[in-house]
Amino acid sequence: MDFSIAVHGGAGIILRSDLSKEQELLYRTGLKDALEAGYAILEKGGSALDAAEAAMCTIENEPVFNAGRGSVFTHEGRHEMDACIMDGYTMLAGAVTCVSNVRNPVKLARSIMENSEHVFLSGKGAEEFAHKMNLEFAPDEYFHTEYRLKQLAAIRDSNRTILDHMKVTDGDKKFGTGGAVCKDIHGNIAAATSTGGMTNKRYNRIGDTPIIGAGTYANNNTCAVSCTGHGEYFIRAVVAYDVSCLMEYKGLSLEEAARIVVNDKLVRMSGEGGLVAVDRFGNITMPFNSDGMYRGYMKSDGSSYIGIFKDELL
Ligand code: ASP
Repeated sequence: MDFSIAVHGGAGIILRSDLSKEQELLYRTGLKDALEAGYAILEKGGSALDAAEAAMCTIENEPVFNAGRGSVFTHEGRHEMDACIMDGYTMLAGAVTCVSNVRNPVKLARSIMENSEHVFLSGKGAEEFAHKMNLEFAPDEYFHTEYRLKQLAAIRDSNRTILDHMKVTDGDKKFGTGGAVCKDIHGNIAAATSTGGMTNKRYNRIGDTPIIGAGTYANNNTCAVSCTGHGEYFIRAVVAYDVSCLMEYKGLSLEEAARIVVNDKLVRMSGEGGLVAVDRFGNITMPFNSDGMYRGYMKSDGSSYIGIFKDELL
């Protein structure tokens, strides 16, 4: 049986003119590394869940993406990370929000799914659980990136919050969250998403990423979805579950369902961003309504793709 994986590293106003060749290479390499980490597991007959987690960890460990190590700063100059993982076979899910110093929030999400009575833990309690599960912690310096500190410094005194890579000078928006969706040789699918959220965010703000059905969802009957974009809109549009519902109740294909949600519904609401999704046949779609999205896929039929800009055709 065939298998496939797709990942994203965020969406938004990503123009060639804004990225140096070196930066572009960092993003492309990061996406490739994430795809390969998941693919290696799928190739050996491993589960979609393991592959999604491995790909997500790779993105969390790569500072150019706004997840794990590269997470953006909150108003107080800290990091509060959100993550979620969902298994389409069992329909079990685990999610975590507002955690600090946890090296790989997606591992914590999975551990909540597998080792607790609960689905969604937050803040101190989630960190306590991570300690109990012997998950790895890292000091503040590990999450400290100069670029993100500059992003915060530029708007800290204002009331604004900005999404990752948003150009503080002209209001350009990019969203740097990471995500992965996989289909394994057993016919199962899974999704994982992880983010640092928004620069200068306050009040324990929670985005769409850890909310099951908004930023992340997986159901073997339909699809596995991981989103990136302006979380407040994605929560209200219940984006990931909406794609699944259009397939389940209306019989639409993955591609058509995702297109309607991202390019019609979200656009009408002014919700900027995109998603990666896979169905139980291994079909992949990666629609976005922003200028660009860091994205890529690899399939067992030998096909693969990595793209950033809008004009990079599949
Ligand atoms: N969706 C994320 C959030 O709102 C941001 C992103 O995709 O970069 O927290």
